[in-house]
Amino acid sequence: MTLDQILRQRLDERRRRNLYREVKTLDSVPNPLARVDGGELIAFSSNDYLGLASRPEVIAAQQAGAELGAGATASHLVNGHLQIHQQLQYDLAEITGREAALVFSSGYMANVGTLCALLGRVDNIISDKLNHASLIDGARLCGANSLRFPHNDLDGLRRQLRRAAGRDGNILVAVDGVYSMDGDLAPLAEIARLCREFDAWLMVDEAHGFGVMGSEQFPLAGSCAAAGLDQSQVPVMMGTLGKAAGNAGAFVAGSRALIDYLVQFARPYIYTTGMPPAVAAGCVAAVNLMRSEPALPQRLESNIAHFRHRARQLNLPLADSPSAIQPLLLGCEETVMAVAAQLEQRGFLVGAIRPPTVPAGTARLRITLSAAHCHSQIDALLDALAVVLQENRAVRL
Ligand code: PMP
Repeated sequence: MTLDQILRQRLDERRRRNLYREVKTLDSVPNPLARVDGGELIAFSSNDYLGLASRPEVIAAQQAGAELGAGATASHLVNGHLQIHQQLQYDLAEITGREAALVFSSGYMANVGTLCALLGRVDNIISDKLNHASLIDGARLCGANSLRFPHNDLDGLRRQLRRAAGRDGNILVAVDGVYSMDGDLAPLAEIARLCREFDAWLMVDEAHGFGVMGSEQFPLAGSCAAAGLDQSQVPVMMGTLGKAAGNAGAFVAGSRALIDYLVQFARPYIYTTGMPPAVAAGCVAAVNLMRSEPALPQRLESNIAHFRHRARQLNLPLADSPSAIQPLLLGCEETVMAVAAQLEQRGFLVGAIRPPTVPAGTARLRITLSAAHCHSQIDALLDALAVVLQENRAVRL
């Protein structure tokens, strides 16, 4: 058989199991809308939690940033690192309460690069089973002894810490602060306590926490700050710029030593073209808006509360999520696809998430909320959901 014949066979098998992923091509995504084929949908599928992706101030700053050059023209260590990258790193360190920060071109690269820089074959990495794919791939690639514990299970984590402590090498515990497909939070204060007890380093992926939650002192820093943890308890913090910052790229924040070390050893930082200066300029503008408009995360919080309150009234199968990510677990792939398609016919764009992104039997609608939504749009989605779910006999309402 030719390569193409083998690939076609595998793709057909994926289609047969309702697992085939389609790329949806949109015209534009001015949050909370998605324009497609000349029409308009209300999007509940974007990670642009604060609506910054379409803010005129950010777009203007990004256009001005393009004057610095359309691309960085080289890797950061050659000639691809500009003042605007420095400015962004400085701002990110400041709002996360860390000594320093380092920008990466994507969160995937930040996670893989950081784990591979910090851990080698003699070391141990302990991961939550629902960690993001980029942490999972980093754990594989770094070659360390890899241990996993059931999602958010502190006894399971303690057991793995005990096992790791009986071996040579350092121990790093890696978790998401906010889980991307479930929306629930890691019990970070308890995890940090266990890390201290076992002398393990804690790394937290703040992709979905950065910009939308924090402490009084660092209101944008993410779930670690919200749990009362600082750099001494969470020495490795990773955040992305493609979600609450509405742009692209990512960063790791921590001690000066950590950042200096990553510059030397994180291969996805070293061996790739630097972040385009325009992107860095857009991110600086987005961070400025985050700082000057505390009403943004407050509006998001109000939307989350409103969604959950109304969804409960309608008896929808809500998950236990306090965040902007509100999954509705339907279980069956076919049902999830049918419900998402019918919602689209009614004017709503919602993510349909299936295995292998989530465990088998847990296919779900992934509804994401933004500060850009208004309550009436949320009500309209929920009314449509109640009808569509009942029509599909997806849940008993
Ligand atoms: N970590 C988590 C938890 C994520 O949800 C994502 C994005 N899907 C990433 C890392 C990767 O970030 P990026 O999109 O910047 O590669």
